[in-house]
Amino acid sequence: MLIGDPVLRERSREISSDELATEPIQALIDEMISIKRHANGAGIAANQVGETLRVAVVEVEGVNPRYPYKPEIPLTVMVNPKIEVLDEDVFVNNEGCLSIPNLRGDLTRHLNVRVKYLDRDGIEHDEVKRGLTAGTFQHEVDHLDGVLFVDRVEDPTTLATWDEFELHGKDEFVERITKLVEQVGS
Ligand code: ZN
Repeated sequence: MLIGDPVLRERSREISSDELATEPIQALIDEMISIKRHANGAGIAANQVGETLRVAVVEVEGVNPRYPYKPEIPLTVMVNPKIEVLDEDVFVNNEGCLSIPNLRGDLTRHLNVRVKYLDRDGIEHDEVKRGLTAGTFQHEVDHLDGVLFVDRVEDPTTLATWDEFELHGKDEFVERITKLVEQVGS
């Protein structure tokens, strides 16, 4: 689904543990993982594949060709995720989105967050995420609330195609974000 499709602007609904165990939901999760990997995304939310359910997948395998500076994130399937901001620290991230082809921009993300969610087997998780990884989790949970990264771009002059970002913005961003990764660990 691409920006402009109303499904991306809906608040997705929670799913029960019983519903999570059903074949259609498990098949949806498999489909989301497959689409995310095929598109080299760092994550995907269910409404991006047309389902307004609170399910999102995050994964950065090795060196991601779309985001080579991102630390690895093991495959994480989040059901009914909740994000709690841990402190006042923020950083300026540069993000893209599978639903917004060929556009990137700068926005502010919380540096340290706690994420609570159920995995695909219904097991509860409670994890702290920092830095770029925290940004990736915030991006996906935003999707479940109908929020896209462009909504959070404060300075529209930072918007760029991927090629233009590569030419004009990437080196400075990667240098800054590499230092951040070294400071916060991920
Ligand atoms: Zn996205």
